[in-house]
Amino acid sequence: MRRDADREERNARLLAGVVLAAMLVMLSGIIHLLYHREYAETDTPNDCFAVSAATGETALPKIVCLTFDDGPSKNTRPILEILDKEQVPATFFVCAQDANEKYLPLVADIAAAGHQIALHSATHQYSKIYASTDAFWQDIRTLRQALEPYVDVAAIDWLRFPGGSTNTVSHRYGGNGIMKALKAQAEDKGYHWIDWNVCAEDATASHPDAAQILRNIRRDADGQDTCVVLLHDTKATGQTVKALPDMIAYFREQGYNFCTVAQMDALQCETK
Ligand SMILES: [Zn+2]
Repeated sequence: MRRDADREERNARLLAGVVLAAMLVMLSGIIHLLYHREYAETDTPNDCFAVSAATGETALPKIVCLTFDDGPSKNTRPILEILDKEQVPATFFVCAQDANEKYLPLVADIAAAGHQIALHSATHQYSKIYASTDAFWQDIRTLRQALEPYVDVAAIDWLRFPGGSTNTVSHRYGGNGIMKALKAQAEDKGYHWIDWNVCAEDATASHPDAAQILRNIRRDADGQDTCVVLLHDTKATGQTVKALPDMIAYFREQGYNFCTVAQMDALQCETK
């Protein structure tokens, strides 16, 4: 009898627990709905949200992420000054090569200005980093150590694979499956990674001038609601600095909102 009573009590507790959990799920759903209603009905709830004037419905905003790879360098400071003047956030996929070493303290200034610091590569040497998956993650550890004195490295969880996630140059060193393996491992390690869909081609051997960089960007951005622009802040990309104010003006005229990569990701999750 006692055992039956115990069982009944356990069952009753279990039922109460299930009911409570269901109520909590419903409550959180209602809060979520209200939250979205608020966003949909306010004019400027967030820089990245827009309400379509034509339909009155919430429209997905046009977003642009300016991303700078391979820095910091002597060109990073002028870039920061322009971004500050224009009040535009950006994302920096940094390296820690010999050429970067002198400028690494700038990483602290980049972060302090509210930009996103993300990982690219310590050495950026394809033959080394793509020799094996272990070699790749060792390079990332080296990069994190190099950044440690300047930023909260534990908070960095975005990376960009050198050459992009679909590069084939890695096959030469680490075999055909290396990128697939690295992407899976990145996910296991809690990293987000991102490529680009607008290429400024500012670090090519032809050394394009600012006007050409701008033309390249407009060519790729045409018709895209979300633009992730690949730029570089190395010592060789002075023309990128020169093109930057016009680039920002172009995206503004086209109605884009500027975000860091992490902000864009949060926004897209929010509106899914
Ligand atoms: Zn790179």
